[in-house]
Amino acid sequence: MEPLYNTDDDRLIAERTIDTECVFDGRLLHVERATVELPNGAVSTREMIRHVGASAIVTLDAKGRVVLERQWRAPLERAFWEIPAGKLDPQEPTERCAVRELKEETGITARDWVELGTIHNAIGYSDERIVIYLARDLDESGEQSLDDNEFLTIVRVTLEEALAMTRDGRITDVKSIIGLNWAEQYLAGTLVQARSVSPRP
Ligand SMILES: [Mg+2]
Repeated sequence: MEPLYNTDDDRLIAERTIDTECVFDGRLLHVERATVELPNGAVSTREMIRHVGASAIVTLDAKGRVVLERQWRAPLERAFWEIPAGKLDPQEPTERCAVRELKEETGITARDWVELGTIHNAIGYSDERIVIYLARDLDESGEQSLDDNEFLTIVRVTLEEALAMTRDGRITDVKSIIGLNWAEQYLAGTLVQARSVSPRP
């Protein structure tokens, strides 16, 4: 296949960071203002949010159902449907985070894990990335173990229903839309980037 573009040419559009200043250092978000030199030599500033990253999980049970969570999201002051997800602990591999978050939020463990892919969900202003997994061959006998100040409700719907929800506006959360659609593509054999993984507990 003919390459679309020679990535060496990225040097023609690359910016060089001259200086970085911390604007806000919070529990979740770290806001920085960078001074950058543009390809034409001009100097500009870039505002960005540094984020540790996260893992998200599409579960698929023996009946073809996925777990969706109903969670309140303060920035929009409303509840959303989402797939299970959570941010990485310091130095935590994304696979281990996926196993941990799924167990904490739903009580579910899985014997079959596939890495569906990585999304960069806010490249205009953040380095956040979310690695999305498909978890199958589930053990659902475990108990949820939410943090004291974490509240969420779990439902199970068929993958078909969840996919319908990504098309009719009921699911607008980006990681959930992508994860559910990647899961469908993986099951159809068309998600070339997917790979089986064996997370260590
Ligand atoms: Mg979560």
